[in-house]
Amino acid sequence: MSQNIPQRKTDIGPPDYKQFLPPVIKKNYGQWAYHENPKPGVLMHVAKSGDRLYSVRAATPRLVSIETIRLFADIADEFTGGYLRWTSRNNVEFLLTDETKIDPLIERLHKEGYPVGGTGPAITNIVHTQGWIHCHSAASDASGVVKSVMDELYEYFVAMKLPAKLRIAYACCLNMCGAVHCSDIAILGIHRRAPQIDHTQVRSVCEVPSTVAACPTGAVRPTTVNGHESVEVIEEQCMFCANCYTVCPAMKLNDPEQDGLSIWVGGKVSNARSEPKFSKLAIPYIPNNPPRWPEAVNAVKNIVEVYAAGARKYERMGEWIERIGWPKFFELTGIEFTKYHIDDFTHAGESYKRSAHLRQVKE
Ligand code: SF4
Ligand code: SF4
Repeated sequence: MSQNIPQRKTDIGPPDYKQFLPPVIKKNYGQWAYHENPKPGVLMHVAKSGDRLYSVRAATPRLVSIETIRLFADIADEFTGGYLRWTSRNNVEFLLTDETKIDPLIERLHKEGYPVGGTGPAITNIVHTQGWIHCHSAASDASGVVKSVMDELYEYFVAMKLPAKLRIAYACCLNMCGAVHCSDIAILGIHRRAPQIDHTQVRSVCEVPSTVAACPTGAVRPTTVNGHESVEVIEEQCMFCANCYTVCPAMKLNDPEQDGLSIWVGGKVSNARSEPKFSKLAIPYIPNNPPRWPEAVNAVKNIVEVYAAGARKYERMGEWIERIGWPKFFELTGIEFTKYHIDDFTHAGESYKRSAHLRQVKE
């Protein structure tokens, strides 16, 4: 900022993050030389000055209570001078420079019931959305499914024994507040029928123009029912996204019988070794089965284990699938290939593989 312009005073937005950085990060900002994974859950960043920053990563329950946040703050005060951060996948990282405090810190976290891990070639905590606890348009629960999956995959969180990082994401509808479009494995809640319109309610709780405008596929049209303004849905155009339900509560989309989960694979954000990839459909539908969702848990575990057994070192899920070929992926995982795997979106043809060279390796 120019010296002549007075600093703007505002209460909008969060405070400047720089004031909260640990002194070692402030001192070496932008001057880091390399980093290593000394052991599961511990990262060591080394600055050009020789300074070292250790991050100890623990899984949080994702939806956390005030008591849990206070506990993490107390642990940070005790071991790291109060410095901690939350990662984008809902881990908590304690930031410290005193190497001798790492093991006592890990011991304390274990004593409080929090596993340490998720770094390097491991599964990190699952990023997830709001689910039944909060969002109106959820097709499934978020924290319940994720807790059930993570309980089963615990061994891959606390050890670095996978070929590469494995990122799992969860979103409870296809509006995808979670990063399901670009994760190695994604669990996505899906609705499977068009909204049911309560025409007696539309006039009192909805605004017809904004409801029509909310539909990304143009499936919602204004109409008149019994002499009153209302809306109709062209079902063939509906992709069950719930955008209309968000602005018009009289267009209920949730259905306890039809809603469920789908599983997607092969996405990644990183551009290391190969370009970033979108996740692709693996399993089109798994019914909701609370409280432990055994079908979804088994499906994810199966994909993780087949990948762990077959991928080369450093190979992400999508890279492994592209090397062996999608037919081989379906064969090895035992997942059925169905008509739902064929993209029938209007512009899908532009993304189709048009070459006759379909790669399939023999293993
Ligand atoms: S993913 Fe969909 S249902 Fe889940 S919190 Fe986001 S908008 Fe709501
Ligand atoms: S669910 Fe989505 S696609 Fe279907 S009518 Fe509503 S806004 Fe349109």
